Amino acid sequence: MVSTNDVVIVVNALVRTLKDQHVARKVVLECAKVNLPIKLLILLFRNVVGKVAPQALHRMLDIRDKQLSTGVATALPPCTNMMKDSMGLPCVHVIDTYLRANAGSLQVTDFHLQWHLQPIATLPPLDPCLQIQEPDAIQPRGRPTGATARRARTARREPSGFENEEASS
Ligand SMILES: [Zn+2]
Repeated sequence: MVSTNDVVIVVNALVRTLKDQHVARKVVLECAKVNLPIKLLILLFRNVVGKVAPQALHRMLDIRDKQLSTGVATALPPCTNMMKDSMGLPCVHVIDTYLRANAGSLQVTDFHLQWHLQPIATLPPLDPCLQIQEPDAIQPRGRPTGATARRARTARREPSGFENEEASS
């Protein structure tokens, strides 16, 4: 028998755990904003550093180093918007445009929302109750339902003489 008190204690423990996880996630996001490698502190990222996920900026650096390392953009193939459509990231053409502009910087709006580091205050509050999942199904112990009782058959015997006499009287 499970009392209502026990259920309340378990739910409270779950809520506490989920709140702790939420705080841990906030810390990870904050760290992403603070721990910026020196290679990201360049003019091209002046307006996006700390506002866009570092992973996205590293991708931008890869593109710049691999496709624009010579500084000659004439060899660039025509823009297909593939990078923007598939990953929500600015393509080599956008990077090239900013590099050619005097001290041009990528803009936050060049990145899809999924790459934005939102200020924690603007994040919607997390409802821990929505994260509670169904408990795992547990295999019941004991004889499976539907199994026949063999014991009754093996324990059967002929009535003794005493029992026969009692039954007939
Ligand atoms: Zn392009």
